[in-house]
Parts: sequence; structure tokens; C-alpha cells
Amino acid sequence: MMVELRRDPVVERWITIPRERAIDIDSLFSIEEASPNDPCPFCRDQNDEKEIDSIRDAQGHWVTRVFADLRPILRVEGTLSRGAKGIYDRMNGIGAHEIVIETPEHALSWATMDSRQLSLVLRTYRQRSLDLRRDQRLRALFIVKNHGGMASHFQHPHSHIVALPIVPLSLIEEIEGGEKHYAYKERCVWCDIREQEMNDPERTVYLDDRYLVVAPFASRFPFELLVLPLQHHADFASAGNDDLDMLGRCLRSTCEMIQRRLRDASLSIVFHSAPFQNPPEHSFHWHIEIRPAISKLAGFEWGTGFYTNPIPPEIAAAHLRG
Ligand SMILES: [Zn+2]
Ligand SMILES: [Zn+2]
Ligand SMILES: [Zn+2]
Repeated sequence: MMVELRRDPVVERWITIPRERAIDIDSLFSIEEASPNDPCPFCRDQNDEKEIDSIRDAQGHWVTRVFADLRPILRVEGTLSRGAKGIYDRMNGIGAHEIVIETPEHALSWATMDSRQLSLVLRTYRQRSLDLRRDQRLRALFIVKNHGGMASHFQHPHSHIVALPIVPLSLIEEIEGGEKHYAYKERCVWCDIREQEMNDPERTVYLDDRYLVVAPFASRFPFELLVLPLQHHADFASAGNDDLDMLGRCLRSTCEMIQRRLRDASLSIVFHSAPFQNPPEHSFHWHIEIRPAISKLAGFEWGTGFYTNPIPPEIAAAHLRG
């Protein structure tokens, strides 16, 4: 399906709209569920020609691999064309949408995967980020990991990489917030959060030499978590192999904690890293946001942007620590 991107004329929000006009309305109401009897599309030995990237072991067998999504939200082919009609801006749906198959083993998760394997998954993300940024049309890259029935169709461990020709609102808000704090204090706001949380570990659920995991002070969702590198870097892809080994351990412990203490709740994990062009090096600090899908987000919160979280983050952190 071809899409175009449209900018909301009031706020800096880009959305995708299908280009086709012949849309099957009925299909919107039938949710596609992968049946447990269907063969897993990620287990099958996939056509190597379609593989975009991979990490292989000494015998040449893949340990992680990357394919274009079969039903991408954006496509990499074509030229980027921006246009405006009156006050409305639009552009065609250029971008990259890739699937990372995280392991050949079907039944693992980030809570049960070897942290070494998780580190290789993280190296695959870094490899893709460094490759995709060479495409001048692309501005921002997101890594999205969904786990569990409420978040994902497929059980086989996989994640999405989406590179966009625009910087979406959620990231713009963070960049602007970081810049304001920096202009006022000449310090990165995430570095300040790190200092404060390390002085008062009430909301901390994990800490090692390189990463801190906290339930954020103003958590929007129950058991929302923030993974913050202790060292300041705007760009996730600047992490070295040692960093990613440690991050693998950190994420494995955190996901294991969620599995154990939150009844293996479905999860969404998103990596927030600086945009490729004119990155705000000093005022942005890359991080990971984790949201257990315990309750579906209520219509009120979607509609108003005003969140009502029933679990104080201090209680959430204490519960996760156990
Ligand atoms: Zn599988
Ligand atoms: Zn920082
Ligand atoms: Zn963020």
C-alpha cells in the first residue's frame, strides 16, 4: 500500500494516509491474527537475496538478520517529493521499514534470551542506523520492539526499524524540551535526571556502570520505564561494543523483572536517538522508553493528551524491584 505523509496544519504532527482511494472498509474491522498453526514467517529459511543485513557466526549461519517489512508503512524506492496545497503540506511516503529477526530460536524473548544474543541484536540496530543515515532523504530513525499478544502478531523475536523523512512530533517535543533546559542551565536535562535519580534511588529499578533504569517521575503509563545511558551521547549508534554488551545485560534484567513481577505483560520498547541532520549533540541524550501494555490507553488520554496513570512511579519501581 502506498502512502503519503501529511502535516497537521496546527501542530508539527505528520501522519500517513493511504494513496489508494479504493479501500476495503470491512478489512478495518477484521483484525488479522496469526493462527498458531500458521508456519512462522521468521523461522523459515528465508531467501538470502532479500536479506538486507545480517550477523553471522563462524560457520556462516545467521544469528540475526534484517529484511524489508512485507507490508511496509513507508518505502525506500522513489524520490522524495514535498508539496503544498494552500496551508497543507504533504510528501510521498519515502522511508525505510525493516524487520530485524533477533534469533533463529522461535520461542525466546528479551527476558529469556542470552544477553550475548541481545547484544548482537543491538549491534544489528547500530549497523542499520549507520547504514540508513547515509540516505540523505532520511531524518530520524526509530527502533521499535513489541513483545506479547497485546503488542505483536508474531511470537518469534523480532523488531522494527523505521527511518522517516521527517522528525515526528514526539521527538520534536523532546528535542525542544532538551534545548530549553540547555539554554537555561547549560546542562543536558537527561544528565540532570540521571543525577537526581542516582541521588534518590526511590524510582530506580536497575543500575550498573553504564545504564540506569527508572520509573520516570511523571510516568504517563503504569510501570513505564526509562533506560538512560550514564554517559552523555545524543546518538544511539555512538555506543561501542562494550556498551552494547552491557546494554544487553541491562535490557535482559529489566525484561526479566517485568516478566516475573508483571505476569509477563506485553511490552513496547522504543529507542529515542537524535535526528541525523543537525543533531542536538549537547542537549539531547539518547534513551529507551519501555511501556508495559497492562491497560489499553483510554480514549480520554488519546483525545486530551492528559494522562491519568493509576500507579505512582515510586510504587511501580518498588514492585519491580520486588
Ligand atoms: Zn519462528
Ligand atoms: Zn545528557
Ligand atoms: Zn524519549
